[in-house]
Amino acid sequence: QAKARGRNGYRLYAPEMSGEGVARLQLETYLRRSIEKNEIFLHYQPQVEIDTGRLIGVEALVRWNHPQLGLVPPFRFIPLAEDTGFINQLGQWVLQEACRQMVRWQQAGLDVPKIAVNLSVRQFERGTIVDVVGAILRETGLAPHRLQLEVTESLIMNTGDALAYINGLHAIGVSLAIDDFGTGYSSLAYLKQMPVQTLKIDRSFIKDISTDVNDEAIAIAIIQLGKSMNLSVIAEGVETDEQAAFLLRHGCNRAQGYLYGRPVPSDELLQRWQS
Ligand code: C2E
Ligand code: MG
Ligand code: MG
Ligand code: MG
Repeated sequence: QAKARGRNGYRLYAPEMSGEGVARLQLETYLRRSIEKNEIFLHYQPQVEIDTGRLIGVEALVRWNHPQLGLVPPFRFIPLAEDTGFINQLGQWVLQEACRQMVRWQQAGLDVPKIAVNLSVRQFERGTIVDVVGAILRETGLAPHRLQLEVTESLIMNTGDALAYINGLHAIGVSLAIDDFGTGYSSLAYLKQMPVQTLKIDRSFIKDISTDVNDEAIAIAIIQLGKSMNLSVIAEGVETDEQAAFLLRHGCNRAQGYLYGRPVPSDELLQRWQS
């Protein structure tokens, strides 16, 4: 069957396609060895206070550079890692590296107030997330309040014990953000019960903010919701000054996006933000 698909135009080993045409099984095989082969690394994207331009945090974003495939984008390998269970190993590596990097920046004299790390639902389902995060914080010596974990609405709503794990994480001192907020379904009543600190307005609502009245309305509603629930709100995917001005005007003073910086390697972040 794989062969037949290959004849139907699937191209194997096409570096310029970033793994697009590579058969799933092959990609899976490569992915499983990616950590031991040192092909996995992190990029860091700044989060800033809009009015002052001050650095308020960074988000760690995982990257996979395969010698033949080149840079494989997360949307190609994260779902695969989730399906195969490899995400647990990968997620643990990401957490460890992110926390270590925070300590290195501190030693180099760069004060990064916090680092945000994405978590997948599979890392919750295992039931060990609180222990895993606690152990990594102890090992690396990073202060818990400097770590923020990003979860999605669907993770919260579809994981049986999500509230227990989120409470557990809160108890050890890490903060939580809801990523891509507004794209999923979450019960506000449920949200209220949870020790979550931050809502991240999804990039899709920011994109056409000055031209699409519906997106505008949604963004404003999320900012208001954050205010009334005493949550901090940050906008994702801010690319223009107009978008930043709109956010500021409506009471959102935190942003992440190409306007402030693309995800970059740790040393570039250091160079850019070192005073
Ligand atoms: P996300 O967590 O919502 O991350 C934000 C994504 O938006 C990143 O894509 C980032 O590069 C991109 N982005 C940031 N600013 C802008 C902008 O101004 N314009 C545009 N067009 N894009 C912007 P990336 O790095 O490709 O990551 C995609 C997704 O993959 C992430 O979305 C997250 O869901 C997932 N992901 C990345 N790293 C990890 C990880 O370590 N663990 C898990 N479980 N998922 C991860
Ligand atoms: Mg995220
Ligand atoms: Mg997001
Ligand atoms: Mg997203």
